[in-house]
Amino acid sequence: MKQMKIPAGVAAVLERLELAGREGYLVGGCVRDHVMGCTPHDYDVTTSALPEETLAIFRGDRVIETGLQHGTVTVLTADGPVEVTTYRQDGTYSDHRHPDGVTFTRSLREDLARRDFTMNAMAMGRSGALEDPFGGREDIQRGLIRCVGEADRRFEEDALRILRGLRFAARLGFALEEETAAAMDRKKELLNTIARERVFSELCGLLQGVYAPEILAQYRAVVQSTLPELDLSRCELLKALPPEPALRLAALLQREQAPGLLTRLKVSNEFRRTVLMLVEEREQLCPPERKAVRRRCAALGAENFLLLCRYQQNERARQIAEALIREKACLSIGDLAVNGRDLMGLGLRGAAIGRALEQLLEQVTEENIPNEKEALLQYLKQ
Ligand code: ATP
Ligand code: MG
Repeated sequence: MKQMKIPAGVAAVLERLELAGREGYLVGGCVRDHVMGCTPHDYDVTTSALPEETLAIFRGDRVIETGLQHGTVTVLTADGPVEVTTYRQDGTYSDHRHPDGVTFTRSLREDLARRDFTMNAMAMGRSGALEDPFGGREDIQRGLIRCVGEADRRFEEDALRILRGLRFAARLGFALEEETAAAMDRKKELLNTIARERVFSELCGLLQGVYAPEILAQYRAVVQSTLPELDLSRCELLKALPPEPALRLAALLQREQAPGLLTRLKVSNEFRRTVLMLVEEREQLCPPERKAVRRRCAALGAENFLLLCRYQQNERARQIAEALIREKACLSIGDLAVNGRDLMGLGLRGAAIGRALEQLLEQVTEENIPNEKEALLQYLKQ
């Protein structure tokens, strides 16, 4: 394994903790990424320093204290924010998601033991030495996702780990270790106790994975127990789609099921509109002709139309739309060379203005008149 190139700002955080007589290690995803030979997207630090001690050590630096109850202090370094969290043991879990209380500890091993999977339960010191009490490195080499400790109990504590496991599998192309997979199946009903927002966020992560089709097919029963609206017989469709949650979720939804699921998952209005648009429009293939493309852009909005083309792999129509956008063609009411005020100048009022603008857009879209102020006003006067 190569020596990890720890960014200087992150290394300085570890050093400061050590100079203060405390331990500091990189932990979790960044160590996993390093062992796998990829560059981490962020760095988390675990420390024996208590939260108040951490605050004292980084007094004078820019810190964010929002996670303090859980022992987390975010230190803003030149290499980005670094979350510094006190070694922690999680107490009992009565809601299958949140520990009833957290206990700080001075033992790195105890902190690693509370983590979900062996590959996420490794720590690395400033010198590059790996602390790996649960065999995370070996599991990574074998491509296995394995719970730390007894899988049934770990999923009972926090059922979201079930979806995290599937997300990592879909992302990394790893297999679930046999006992971990069996426990997922046994505990799948507990997923229904998890906040829908959390389920949605893990589902998005899973859908973005290169191996999402395989994992969804293989763990169909687990997924369906909490997301019965997904039509997993459509999994194969994902392979051709870019890894964007809205595109991929739309592919797995039957028209009738879509609104209900989106409501239940409490998705944003924007995400909802996008998915519903794709589900509604996906059977309508736009011919690769300029006017047809303009019509569809005017009806759906250019951005939506581009997304739909990507969903349908309608490359030719997409290129035409992009060319239209480049040449700043008029594709919406907002692009018209006249606005409501101009029409008031012609004596139009209220709803008549909206209707007139619609009419003008239609004429321009059909390329009957150019998008020029004179021409548009002239048309209305007739
Ligand atoms: P990613 O690359 O997706 O960020 P990550 O492993 O960093 O992966 P995070 O959600 O950022 O995932 O969590 C950081 C670490 O915290 C994990 O590596 C794991 O050690 C621990 N962790 C996170 N969520 C849980 C959980 N639900 N149960 C146990 N440990 C968890
Ligand atoms: Mg992370």
